[in-house]
Amino acid sequence: MVFALERRQKSKKGKTKQVPIIRMKEEVKTDMGAICKICNGDMLKVDGCKPMDFIHDEIRYTRKKVGDVGDFDEGCDPDTRCHDCAAKYGHHHHAGCDAERCPVCCGQLLSCECELWYDE
Ligand SMILES: [Zn+2]
Ligand SMILES: [Zn+2]
Ligand SMILES: [Zn+2]
Repeated sequence: MVFALERRQKSKKGKTKQVPIIRMKEEVKTDMGAICKICNGDMLKVDGCKPMDFIHDEIRYTRKKVGDVGDFDEGCDPDTRCHDCAAKYGHHHHAGCDAERCPVCCGQLLSCECELWYDE
């Protein structure tokens, strides 16, 4: 499998393993359904993704959850799911979701160019 993004891993002694974020939908959604590469959950069945932060330039950023202030679906109805990744209100968006906002530039995570890593 070829990732469109570089798969460089920062390895720093004593730090947790960090994985690059996934921006290509093809890497996330298969013909058989929508299995998230990060949490391995079926996006339509699980509540949301693993609650991991983002790391950018050694700084930890808290991610917006579905419906959070600043989320694209801010103030949505608590029984709605994300229109793209189907994460439930109050849960984290899945890998490759087009409705997650980048915490660094506040743009769309899928299309911005910030170098971000999931922190496991
Ligand atoms: Zn997920
Ligand atoms: Zn989402
Ligand atoms: Zn960004």
